[in-house]
Amino acid sequence: MLIVVGTYLSKHKKKSGKTEGKIVQAKEDGVHEPVHISPFVDPGKCIGSGACITACPEKEVIGLSGGKGKLVHASRCIGHGACAIACPVGAITLVFGSETRGVDIPDVSPDFQTNVPGIYISGELGGMGLIKNSITQGKEAVGYIIESLKEFDGEDGGDVLDVLIVGAGPAGIGASLSAQHAKLKYRTIDQDEWGGTVYNYPKKKIVMTASVDLPGYGEVKLNETTKEALLELWEKVLKKTGVKIHTMEKLSAVEKIEAKKIFKITTSKGEYMTKKLLLAIGRRGTPRKLGAPGEDKTKVAYRLLDAEQHQSEDVMIVGGGDSAVEAAIAIGDVEGNRVVLSYRKDAFGRIKSMNKVRLEEAEAAGRVNVILGSNVKEITDKEIILKTADGEETIPNDYIYIFAGGELPNAFLQSIGISIEKKFGTR
Ligand SMILES: Cc1cc2nc3c(=O)[nH]c(=O)nc-3n(C[C@H](O)[C@H](O)[C@H](O)COP(=O)(O)OP(=O)(O)OC[C@H]3O[C@@H](n4cnc5c(N)ncnc54)[C@H](O)[C@@H]3O)c2cc1C
Ligand code: SF4
Repeated sequence: MLIVVGTYLSKHKKKSGKTEGKIVQAKEDGVHEPVHISPFVDPGKCIGSGACITACPEKEVIGLSGGKGKLVHASRCIGHGACAIACPVGAITLVFGSETRGVDIPDVSPDFQTNVPGIYISGELGGMGLIKNSITQGKEAVGYIIESLKEFDGEDGGDVLDVLIVGAGPAGIGASLSAQHAKLKYRTIDQDEWGGTVYNYPKKKIVMTASVDLPGYGEVKLNETTKEALLELWEKVLKKTGVKIHTMEKLSAVEKIEAKKIFKITTSKGEYMTKKLLLAIGRRGTPRKLGAPGEDKTKVAYRLLDAEQHQSEDVMIVGGGDSAVEAAIAIGDVEGNRVVLSYRKDAFGRIKSMNKVRLEEAEAAGRVNVILGSNVKEITDKEIILKTADGEETIPNDYIYIFAGGELPNAFLQSIGISIEKKFGTR
């Protein structure tokens, strides 16, 4: 009996030690705190069954320590909720932010309307993440919009849209399908390609989702698929239903014309009048630009989808965060590529310790050439002109990736009058 108990306790201690070690590392790497949503494990209820850990499709969001579930890499949580469902004693609730890290969530009423009448929010921006949930919310929001359009009954709208849908991720696609099915006068725009966050997943990522009914197409039965298969399916759906998405068009301003109860919308491509505005813009924001001449060339990108697409090419990465460093290492790992990592500061102050080590190795092996204290002066078809402490340097170049952070949607939302609440570990 004593041997059994002793072995159990020693295993427990080892497991706790491992988890605590991972928590220390995760804190050091800045990935311990949640980005958005994450599980709160009530220590008073938790019996340490570990069912949440087995159920979670992501890696090491929760670990066991002292016989209780504890957050390890909260930033990896995407809000499946599988942990909460699996927990046999109901010890888990999903919350926004943590006690120390607030997360901004706009105020949205049950009909998806914000405090600004006529402006609606659906999908992850409103706090409800995941593909199926976002599609469903987009559809439901259009249902409420159709109801509210009754206030315009009898008025000739002319060129005025019924609804302008901004964002073509899962929420915007769901909304557009509903708008098309209901024969609304609508326009869907996206500042990027359609597909939203899904389009930006790493190549061949396994996607967990659930069956969903798509207006004008029917039920699609999905549980586990890949990024590529999901985008292919959506392409088929858009083609069959005739939904048109205007890509590379960014929303830049919203003005309410009170007298007519409509909105004047300015985008990067034009101006529209619309009765209702549906924001399905997610939470990733807009990549920040450098403002350098030549930045509008097609060889300039703000995210890396596939390092292998570069073979024996001259590639420059600009930035000093983990995304920039990881992209430089990944492209440098493909034999034959010549990679330059340009960063405006004199040291990489805020990257994960593991990335620091990997970058030093890549630099020593000649796979990445780091140029600190440098700024892009100009981008030409075949070269980049860098400004460095020693003067100007002209570098051969086929592609350039810029990781200069992003402008989050909150400031824009507040500028158009939408109120936002900061949540510290609450729903
Ligand atoms: C790494 C990762 C893995 C994930 N894995 C899964 C998974 O397996 N299963 C799952 O269900 N969920 C998963 N998710 C979550 C899921 O992808 C998101 O919850 C979902 O995409 C949110 O949909 P959305 O339409 O609200 O926003 P998004 O998908 O973010 O789409 C928003 C769109 O709005 C556009 N936009 C933003 N600002 C503007 C503007 N000013 N003008 C015009 N357009 C604009 C953007 O370009 C974007 O296309 C994952 C998320 C991540 C980050
Ligand atoms: S909500 Fe999902 S991703 Fe987050 S811990 Fe639970 S199962 Fe994992």
